[in-house]
Amino acid sequence: MAMTKNNPKDELRSKLDDEQFHVTQNKGTERPFTGKYVDHKDDGMYRCVCCDAELFSSTHKYDSGSGWPSFWLPLAGDSVRLVVDESHGMRREEVVCSNCDAHLGHVFNDGPEPSGLRYCINSASLDFEGSG
Ligand SMILES: [Zn+2]
Repeated sequence: MAMTKNNPKDELRSKLDDEQFHVTQNKGTERPFTGKYVDHKDDGMYRCVCCDAELFSSTHKYDSGSGWPSFWLPLAGDSVRLVVDESHGMRREEVVCSNCDAHLGHVFNDGPEPSGLRYCINSASLDFEGSG
């Protein structure tokens, strides 16, 4: 049998469930208050569901009331990347994994001090690893 190189998208297809694939690869948005990490308060690390890169710490998670997991700071400045998103007639800043470009969510300027930022992230884009 001839060797064929696996398409990375096919690998993700088998690794992720339908919603995780849709959100991260097609810039989808899970319905508010449905994600598994909305009210999640355990201590630990949130990783990219696609490539396992460390993205957010529970230390920076807060309850924004928006219906999506919200963080006021990414784990490190270079763990996520911002991309201007002008879809749906709005100008927003999309948050993507800087390692694999998976769509994570959007960032808004109405977060708490000291950053004033709200990283509004889909649960479907995250994988949690508890520290305790
Ligand atoms: Zn990633």
